[in-house]
Amino acid sequence: MTEFTLIAASAAVHHDIVECRHLIDGAWRASEDGAISERVSPSHGIVVSRSAKGGTTETEAAIAAARKAFDGGVWSKASGKSRATVLLKVAELIERDAEKMARVETLETGKPITQAFGEVSGAADLWRYAASLARTMHGESHNTLGPDMLGVVLKEPIGVVSVITPWNFPFWILSQKLPFALAAGCTCVVKPSELTPSTTVMLGELLIEAGLPSGVVNIVLGYGQPVGALMAEHPEVDMITFTGSTAVGRSIASAASGTLKKVALELGGKNPQVIFPDAAIDDAADAITFGVYFNAGECCNSSSRIIVHEDVAEAVVEKVVALSRKVAFGDPLNPETQVGAIVSTAHQQKIDGYVRDAVAAGAKVCLGGAALKVDGLPGEFYQPTVVAGVTPDMAIAREEVFGPVLSVLTFRSFDGAVALANDAAYGLSAGVWSDSVHTCLDFARQVEAGTVWTNTWMDGFPELTFGGVKQSGLGREIGPYGLEEFLEVKTLAMRIGRTRAPWVKAS
Ligand code: NAD
Repeated sequence: MTEFTLIAASAAVHHDIVECRHLIDGAWRASEDGAISERVSPSHGIVVSRSAKGGTTETEAAIAAARKAFDGGVWSKASGKSRATVLLKVAELIERDAEKMARVETLETGKPITQAFGEVSGAADLWRYAASLARTMHGESHNTLGPDMLGVVLKEPIGVVSVITPWNFPFWILSQKLPFALAAGCTCVVKPSELTPSTTVMLGELLIEAGLPSGVVNIVLGYGQPVGALMAEHPEVDMITFTGSTAVGRSIASAASGTLKKVALELGGKNPQVIFPDAAIDDAADAITFGVYFNAGECCNSSSRIIVHEDVAEAVVEKVVALSRKVAFGDPLNPETQVGAIVSTAHQQKIDGYVRDAVAAGAKVCLGGAALKVDGLPGEFYQPTVVAGVTPDMAIAREEVFGPVLSVLTFRSFDGAVALANDAAYGLSAGVWSDSVHTCLDFARQVEAGTVWTNTWMDGFPELTFGGVKQSGLGREIGPYGLEEFLEVKTLAMRIGRTRAPWVKAS
């Protein structure tokens, strides 16, 4: 039996380079200084896209366009019905173009084509859900303040929103933010990761086709400096929503503090799955395997550490190792592939460094632990890796590895399991496996996480809000709370009739 399941390159890839430009006030523009950057596929080594590289001029122009559009009211004052109509049309167009977009996303990220397709086509549902919120959102009325008073709380769009996204789920994460901001009536400046600009630009085309007015969504391509930093600090921006690393999240919060604009952050995670001895071990092992290898572990929701009861630890690890050997790693353009390439050489080295350091500190590699060669592809791949004997002090147990690497820790008591799960700076998601509803509920209430899965992993729905506690972030996305993030509230206290007693006594 071979150690891993590998899928070699299927055939030579024919690809027309995607030319990406900025979208500013309804027009596609190159950078003023003509600067460009190219994205080379991390799996296939070919140039996938060539993008205008933005600077201060383009960022200022995009923010000014969003400001003008917001203040002009073309979108911010439009009815919920007309906003919803555009969002629904965008959803339809995303589905029409999903195959084309998925292929480009696969080449830019290295992720498997079936998962890129699932990400893009699935995101259409986020646009549909946001459309439903655009029509149904409302404020509050207070009819209990006395016969001469009526209170009304209005919801208003917060204003101009900067949207900054990462490379790991470029289209999904954009769709967790943008349709909700638009449903609220905000105008936006969007910056995708410099590694994955194409699907954001393709969406820009769809927004125009769907009839979104000019200036409502502007796209600036480029790097964190100067584009992202200016989007965070600019006084004409009212809110910034960011998904990415905790380190950049901190710098964004600090840049935004100058104008005290609202900040929403979706950051990293070190998400545990806790397995009790009465759990359905086969189901748990499959979900652990999915949780660690999905998107090559380059996933904020990666279940990169498991905390297993000592009585079942050996059995669980044995099953996960056996399943890991069957997961298909290789050519991301092959529909059979389940795990593709690592996003960059530097990132591959970082992943390997975590494994090396854990071994040096006494952990044991049960499977993998090295780079993987895929026949016919020049890119970076990493073996499915299971590391046991991990202790809570090791970096591999505390930090995001963001690779296909599982850390195994063990526990003896329920309280010990909760303590280990909560012994993290992050608090994005957590899972519990037990046949006892009492154990699951008790754990779910004590664990510090924004999402808890019981006897499952990573199920998500547009209706169910998502976000982290502790250093995993600020604020929430999707679900009704995902809309609330982009709304301000305004209180109206109204007197009925001339019943107000004078404050100044009549002389
Ligand atoms: P990153 O923080 O390096 O970059 C994210 C985005 O921020 C990119 O567009 C980048 O150009 C921009 N940026 C970089 N420096 C900036 C600055 N100083 N000011 C403003 N913008 C700046 O993250 P990444 O490497 O692209 O993505 C991986 C990270 O994202 C991981 O840590 C992962 O956990 C996190 N992530 C979190 C979630 C979540 O929902 N919680 C989802 C996906 C990814």
